[in-house]
Amino acid sequence: MDIRVLLGLPDLLMVRTLVCVQPHPDDNEVGAAGTLLELVGRGCEVVYVTVTDGGAGAFGEVTDREVLVALRSQEILDAGAVVGVKRQVNLGFPDGGDYTEEQVREKLVQVFREVRPEIVMTVDPWMPYEAHPDHVKTGLAVARAAMFCDNAVLYPVGERPLWSVPQVAFYASSHPNTFVDVSVHWQDKGRAMLAHQSQFDNEQWPVLWGYLSMSARALFDQHLAGPEASGHAEAFKVLATRQLHFYPSAIYE
Ligand SMILES: [Zn+2]
Repeated sequence: MDIRVLLGLPDLLMVRTLVCVQPHPDDNEVGAAGTLLELVGRGCEVVYVTVTDGGAGAFGEVTDREVLVALRSQEILDAGAVVGVKRQVNLGFPDGGDYTEEQVREKLVQVFREVRPEIVMTVDPWMPYEAHPDHVKTGLAVARAAMFCDNAVLYPVGERPLWSVPQVAFYASSHPNTFVDVSVHWQDKGRAMLAHQSQFDNEQWPVLWGYLSMSARALFDQHLAGPEASGHAEAFKVLATRQLHFYPSAIYE
């Protein structure tokens, strides 16, 4: 029994509005640029939310937070332009800094109530070996904001009416259940990632890109390939929002 079918929820590629929330300025491209390009091509409105300012993304000898934040704010816009993102919201929490999941969640509830997305996307906070605090906080904040977005006791209605977020998609998941053919977008994914010059335009890029390409080809082979086909795929854990609470089988679905 697939509860998402029972609830009549659309497939990931059929949604018309998506909010994609990233801990750092480059995570959405690494995790999902191919799928986001496909969605934009199908007419989906994609909104980016970036939780932290990217000020700890040191490269080379540049360690000045203000310089990094300025550079990376521009890179978010450049990468978003390659993907075709409609709008960007920067929450401005300090990269690697002292802020709480609750603070992020509160901001996200307001964004979700305003944009009214059919699905929200982010990093998977339950990836077993994820150690980065910004990733864990962001993933949990998105899941909990989706769950409580229509709760007027916890988050009283202000200027924006309540909204029920129907589904959540996690990239970088160890338990993916949805695979998207992104073969035609693979080179553009690379372009979108390279818009983050401060992070990727360096001698390590060939190794990273080679690794990502190999993983994407393996995902395609395992989950999408016919007898002769080959290509690139991205993987997601897509859950109905109601599977995010008291739903032990969610890990297997
Ligand atoms: Zn990150």
